[in-house]
Amino acid sequence: MTTCQHCWGYRIGSMVGSLEFCASLGSKLILVLGHTQCGALEGAVNMHLSQKDARTSKPPNSALTGLLQELSGVVQQVEEKLGVQADSQMFVDHAIKVNVFHSIDFLLRFSQPLRELMKHGELEIHGGIYHQDTGRVEFLGPSPRQSALLASDVALPPSMAKLSLPTRMVLDGPTKPDQALQLLREGNERFAAGAPIAGQLNAQMRKSLVKEGQFPHSAVVGCADSEAPLETIFDALPGDIFVLRNAGNTCTHAEGSIMGSLEFAIGAVNTQLILVLGHTSCSAILGATKVGLRKGWEYQRILLKSRPVVFA
Ligand SMILES: [Zn+2]
Repeated sequence: MTTCQHCWGYRIGSMVGSLEFCASLGSKLILVLGHTQCGALEGAVNMHLSQKDARTSKPPNSALTGLLQELSGVVQQVEEKLGVQADSQMFVDHAIKVNVFHSIDFLLRFSQPLRELMKHGELEIHGGIYHQDTGRVEFLGPSPRQSALLASDVALPPSMAKLSLPTRMVLDGPTKPDQALQLLREGNERFAAGAPIAGQLNAQMRKSLVKEGQFPHSAVVGCADSEAPLETIFDALPGDIFVLRNAGNTCTHAEGSIMGSLEFAIGAVNTQLILVLGHTSCSAILGATKVGLRKGWEYQRILLKSRPVVFA
């Protein structure tokens, strides 16, 4: 039996590597064990509750804050399940179980050796909760997402693939609008702070994205101006956002490709958030204030239609 002390370490490649080594020695069971009165989860819940009314989440100012922020996704899942009325203790109690399966799902998604052993019936990964008041361990069984995640073919955890963010794929499922908006805000916060973490895809991640398909969390309509690149502004990887750009981020009639593309994004791709993004010093909008452009020029038509925006 292997115990994975997972509270702060589930994103760290060395944890995955150590478990792969242990499994190669013949261990047949990996147990991911949470526990009641977990200080790390209490800290993550308190930080989430204190920041949830803020316009943007703050970048970590210490390693400890960064580690607690890594658990914020778990706390957000709990909030969706319990609702905003739940008190912090209810949050913590439920987050313990959610975090156990979050850790198991990470192992399933990012370890090819563990997946292969499981497919051949040579390994199982279960969750559990140690109840400190009774001394008993509650065994939770495998992850509810196990069968879906065994189809993953991602070979390395993001940190070991020189990526700090996993690539979004169909397996991630749809993202709710408030979660998608939070991802955009956090990505923009990293960009504005000069600390982007989205790297280039390696071949393995690219192949996985092609094989499993895209599931972008947001569709963004932005300007074609070169100084406003949307993936860069939101520190996004391929697979994260569905991007539509033209001069002046205009959407003035139903016949154009913008409308059809957005309908594709919310229909076929199941994106649930659309953001229309303008930007300062926009050459298209500045141009709309000028007169005397040659008649019949498509660009002039765009500018004229955007004029009400300028003078609104
Ligand atoms: Zn522009």
